[in-house]
Amino acid sequence: MSRRVVVIGSGLGGLVTSYLLSKQGDCVTILEHDKRPGGSLQAFYRDGIRFDTGFHFVGGMAEGGPLYPYFHDLGLDRLAWTPLDGHEIWLGDKQYVIPNGQERWLRYMQDLFPHQKTNIDELLRVCREAVECPLQETMPYWEQNAWQWLEKTIDDPILRDLISGSSMLVELNRETLPLFAFAEIVYSYVYSSHRLREGGAPIIEHLLGGVLAHGGSIRCSSTVIRILEKDGRAAGVQLQSGEVIEADIVLSAIHPQETMNLLSDNTSMRKVYRRRIDKLVDSMGSFTANIKFRKGSLSLRDVPIYVHKEGADIWSYNAPPVEHLLLHSYPEQDAMDIIVPMAWTNVAQWDGTQVGHRGQDYELFKKEILSQCLALAETALPGITDAVEQVWTSTPLTWKNYFLSHNGTSYGVCKDCNAPESTILMPKTPLPGLFLTGQSMILHGIMGTTISGFISAQFLGATQPPSNSLQGA
Ligand SMILES: Cc1cc2nc3c(=O)[nH]c(=O)nc-3n(C[C@H](O)[C@H](O)[C@H](O)COP(=O)(O)OP(=O)(O)OC[C@H]3O[C@@H](n4cnc5c(N)ncnc54)[C@H](O)[C@@H]3O)c2cc1C
Repeated sequence: MSRRVVVIGSGLGGLVTSYLLSKQGDCVTILEHDKRPGGSLQAFYRDGIRFDTGFHFVGGMAEGGPLYPYFHDLGLDRLAWTPLDGHEIWLGDKQYVIPNGQERWLRYMQDLFPHQKTNIDELLRVCREAVECPLQETMPYWEQNAWQWLEKTIDDPILRDLISGSSMLVELNRETLPLFAFAEIVYSYVYSSHRLREGGAPIIEHLLGGVLAHGGSIRCSSTVIRILEKDGRAAGVQLQSGEVIEADIVLSAIHPQETMNLLSDNTSMRKVYRRRIDKLVDSMGSFTANIKFRKGSLSLRDVPIYVHKEGADIWSYNAPPVEHLLLHSYPEQDAMDIIVPMAWTNVAQWDGTQVGHRGQDYELFKKEILSQCLALAETALPGITDAVEQVWTSTPLTWKNYFLSHNGTSYGVCKDCNAPESTILMPKTPLPGLFLTGQSMILHGIMGTTISGFISAQFLGATQPPSNSLQGA
């Protein structure tokens, strides 16, 4: 008999797991707080321009890459992907145009740093080994400190900066970042990077289309406010409207601390697990400027551009001051996103205020960050400030507002090499019938969240991991 599964949240994590469960025959109902599905995969329009929110490009999905088997299984490899030629890194006013593809990447780095040739080989070997290793054998890579390993492997500081300079997605932290998370990012982008001209919409349509075709359903503007329990197991959810939806399995695809908040005071969930979840630390949020340029005023390059201020520490992000940023261009639209990591503490004072009514001091704060962003971006794109026609800005508060994102975090829970067992979450919780998926589980980003989605589905008996992937989770 098919199981009734309710899924909380329709971001990539919820969609991937729902797709796999519904394909297997489960009766899936996705409940989404926002009025549109997709979470961070969504795009939005301002003045006729389409901007991405949390999906700009993805690494490792070329055939043979670490993401490829997962996307192939989901049918996502058939979307109209545009391969990108690599990425740019700016260290101060020095530009590095780094190609994709293992051979090209190796040749570029080794030509630039001939004295580091063996070290570069070793770096790539270890990253590949970590990524290709069956998941149950990856613990040594989780326990190893990424920074210490990098320092030991590469002794040229500029090369270290170049290797780390495109890793904004993992939140570099000298004390805590596990080698596994670092290796995944480095290796996937050495392998390849791709984008979709239409943003995340085709991914949402494909996965949601699959769920609907397999008899599942989705309800937007349906905020879950309570996970219901019966006889010591999760038995359904209650919506903000008061409606109750019964289920055999509740799959939460939102932040784990928010999941715990949905349990009642007399829950059967073990206290020790709740305490463990309470202690998890969030990754930073983001400040984003979505910019429309005057037509033809700038020649935009169709690759991610990472700009780091002269002498700034690449292993320490947090604006203000703005010392690191990512430029993501839409050359076909004369538009761009500037993305800067920003901790919740910078905006916490305005928590509880409403969009558009956060006050003058909030507007001034955003204005100041924007001007710092443009000043730094001038290094890579001279004339950018004068070319701006219109600009819209958002902060971690915006993410909290739209997606109920916990403390406005961009990438969910941080992983810690000093405590991998407590910071890597498995799908099964101690409360029977309650399972987790989404970016906070194992890894974040499009690749990490997809892998987490497969692992959750596997725990629920729906699938085997694709061949040539993180097998045997
Ligand atoms: C600015 C930014 C840029 C990024 N760029 C990239 C990139 O280029 N490449 C990349 O690989 N990764 C990128 N990422 C990361 C990537 O977007 C995420 O890791 C991934 O999309 C997370 O998916 P998710 O399903 O776990 O969470 P989400 O997408 O956050 O989905 C969670 C969903 O749950 C819903 N929800 C929350 N609470 C409730 C509730 N109580 N009831 C019902 N629904 C609820 C939310 O509305 C949301 O739709 C970026 C992230 C940010 C913030």
